[in-house]
Amino acid sequence: MNKKLLVGPPLTLILVVVVALIFLALALGFLFIDDFNVSEPPGMEGGSVCSPTGGIDEKSWNNTLESKGGVFSGYGDEIKKAAHKHGIDPVLMLAIALHETANGTSDAVTFRNNPGGLMNPDGSGLMIFDTLGAGLESMANTLHNRIVQDGLNTIEKLGEVYAPLDAANDPTGLNQHWVPIVKENVASLGGLTMECETTNVEIIGDQAWVLPFTKHITSCFGERWGRPHNGIDIAFPGVEGQSAAAFMDGKVVVSEFNNGGYGNLVVLQHDNNIKTYYAHMSKRSVPAGTKVKAGQEVGRVGNTGASEGAHLHFEIRVVDEPTNPLPFLKDFNLTFNAGGSNCPAP
Ligand SMILES: [Zn+2]
Repeated sequence: MNKKLLVGPPLTLILVVVVALIFLALALGFLFIDDFNVSEPPGMEGGSVCSPTGGIDEKSWNNTLESKGGVFSGYGDEIKKAAHKHGIDPVLMLAIALHETANGTSDAVTFRNNPGGLMNPDGSGLMIFDTLGAGLESMANTLHNRIVQDGLNTIEKLGEVYAPLDAANDPTGLNQHWVPIVKENVASLGGLTMECETTNVEIIGDQAWVLPFTKHITSCFGERWGRPHNGIDIAFPGVEGQSAAAFMDGKVVVSEFNNGGYGNLVVLQHDNNIKTYYAHMSKRSVPAGTKVKAGQEVGRVGNTGASEGAHLHFEIRVVDEPTNPLPFLKDFNLTFNAGGSNCPAP
């Protein structure tokens, strides 16, 4: 009797502990599931995974070249050089080259120095190059034509050309793997450095908010310190290196380092004679001539040109006339910490 009484409380305790452990396990499970979702490359479903810094992740780039680069393993710098010369993303170029050559081991690349599966225009089969450097140069040039001239600026669109999904071209159905494998390669190389999709873009109608990281306006349009300020400034601690996104669908008409004060500047031409300016960026993500979608990354926020502190300077010009952007942006629920004319009270 006494013994049973003594046994009772510990059993209850064990039950409580077991139930608590089950809850804990469930909670941890959810945490891990969350973690998994976060660490999965965000581009795998729709867009393409973006390098977190906007530049090449050298560690991932080198590791991938070493572990599965095949003949490309000593050619990292040549690939970067060829890609930069032709205004395309080295990460995308290498990701495609790896897939087209079975990770740098195919006969085409080993014996013909042909990294991009380039065919002779006369139908006589794969092109032959004297050196791998020459093959890479030709591949970069061809990719430039597809991406910049033809506007095939996503992996999906390139896949339609490199690996069309119709039965006649692809009797064994291999082409369906092209897009997912190129994306896997991109992720393994550390993410795209150009033309990547931004995350958390807010889109209302045909317009996207231009700096997904923050909606904090620090300076408005109009007279400032006795001089016109042709746009708005957007900033918040931590903004440096964040993606700036295209306001609407359009075409890149300027992508340059501007010595007049704008620093790294991208200008987009939209319909209805509207242009948008993205200035002081640390880097530009799209070359001139590219078509962009609303919300697509055009650059990363920086502190270049006549700028004191990292911020995005954003302008809207209507028929080339600088215009107060705020009426265009009224649906985006911006916050203000700015004085000056045309700026709502803080
Ligand atoms: Zn400004």
